[in-house]
Amino acid sequence: MSTPTLPASTAAVLSGSADFAAELAPVLSPARPSEVVGWYAQASAAVVDEVVRTAAAAAPLWDGLGAPERGRLMAAAATALEDGIAERAELLTREQGKVLWESRLDVGGAPRLLRYYADLASTLDAEEVVRDERGMTVIRRVPMGPTVVIVPWNYPVYLCMMVLAPALAAGNPVIVKPSELAPLALTETLAILASHLPPGVVNVVPGSGPETGAALVSHPLVRKVLFTGGTRTGQSVLRGAAENITSVSLELGGNDPAIVLESAVVDDELVREIRRSVYTCTGQVCFNVKRIYVHRSLYDDFVDRFKAAVDEIVVGDGLHPESTIGPLNNRSQWESVTDLLARTEGQGGTVDVLGRAHPEARWDEGHFMLPSVVTGVGHEATVVGCEQFGPTVPILPFDDEDEAIRMANDTEFGLAASVWSDDVDHALALGRRLEAGSVFVNSHRVGSSDMTMPFGGMKRSGLGRNHGMWAIEECSELQALSHRPDTASFPGPPTT
Ligand code: NAD
Repeated sequence: MSTPTLPASTAAVLSGSADFAAELAPVLSPARPSEVVGWYAQASAAVVDEVVRTAAAAAPLWDGLGAPERGRLMAAAATALEDGIAERAELLTREQGKVLWESRLDVGGAPRLLRYYADLASTLDAEEVVRDERGMTVIRRVPMGPTVVIVPWNYPVYLCMMVLAPALAAGNPVIVKPSELAPLALTETLAILASHLPPGVVNVVPGSGPETGAALVSHPLVRKVLFTGGTRTGQSVLRGAAENITSVSLELGGNDPAIVLESAVVDDELVREIRRSVYTCTGQVCFNVKRIYVHRSLYDDFVDRFKAAVDEIVVGDGLHPESTIGPLNNRSQWESVTDLLARTEGQGGTVDVLGRAHPEARWDEGHFMLPSVVTGVGHEATVVGCEQFGPTVPILPFDDEDEAIRMANDTEFGLAASVWSDDVDHALALGRRLEAGSVFVNSHRVGSSDMTMPFGGMKRSGLGRNHGMWAIEECSELQALSHRPDTASFPGPPTT
């Protein structure tokens, strides 16, 4: 193992902290776990406190600049972040595992999101003034204050920026806790962003979730937590925030259904689109398709074509250009999907393992797994009811649309869903009956939900909405500034 040294980017965004380098932990390559990609610091509770105080001290200045000036600084940072995308994407593939085009999409999201919210910032200081015979009220949006952003490992840069850019535009200083499993490319991105903004506005606190993350969530000076991750962790974040009545927005897990109606044409295009919706990022995306329901009249044809398409997948190191998908991100995820597939077979399901290994992939060492397709299971099977978060998917037949809707909605999750049909109007009508924050027709993948559409989960998939002005609303508050001189007209007897 190489000698522990903290990346310069982490030092840059943590400057001023005395003991943050006391403990370092390695970030290992999912394709070659004996390879150390870099190091991250385990921030202590004292560092957490120091960084939150730094952010709180920067809050008045950042708010006081006004939204148009904040937008100008964010746009300048976006321009700087357009340089070096290829290098940061390669670093992300080495630490996260996914193939390079996905890492470029992830890292390239930072300038796009910053620019989008920099543009939106020009409108944020507008105040509504309501006048009537009783007086006047100014309705204005104000920032919440120090905002903690907790990030998962699957799309670390994009998912951080999706909530951080609106938080900044709204006037909040931010403190980011990257995932310990993929902190490096994100920290480099944040160091560049921080260097274009006043000191203390963008901060990073590296460290593990249960210690560093929990200490951030329960810090009394933190006013907002923007959390993206698993549902169980989201529950503990809510508990941690309860003590100080800290506002929390949650982007959590999903078990997204895709429903292929009798009116769909099962051709190569449809099958490949659904394949991509399942196996992108090796199945580790919150709104990947996690179960497929196909009308019985199309079922056999769909399964045959789908398996043939999945068989084309090449699994290898994300750095190899021939790899279609990379390894799973970590051993515990690999073990969880491996156990799930064994359990599925134990429950009578058929698991067809397909695709092929890239000849240079270190199969003996990395967290590699061939893609699979599950058939012969009922709606109650574990693989249908859980968020598998790996390269496998169950396909189930249905006889009528009411049954398909019932099975699709029979879950604690409600992130996204899709309906596939040549009759778009009918698909849209059915979509209204699905309990999901996003319902797509004839697509279901990264790109299906852009910044102009609200994104977030119903039920246990989350609290709040992202993208557009909805994300600004999550991290700002309305203030009513009112003057009503005629207090004699207020309710109640004049003598009390
Ligand atoms: P996770 O919940 O294990 O970790 C997410 C983050 O929370 C990490 O930074 C982790 O260090 C931190 N954390 C862990 N315990 C904590 C605690 N007690 N207090 C505060 N922070 C804590 O999730 P993951 O494994 O990184 O990501 C996978 C999960 O995230 C999946 O369930 C996936 O569906 C979900 N996810 C959801 C979205 C969405 O937009 N809805 C996007 C991506 C991932």
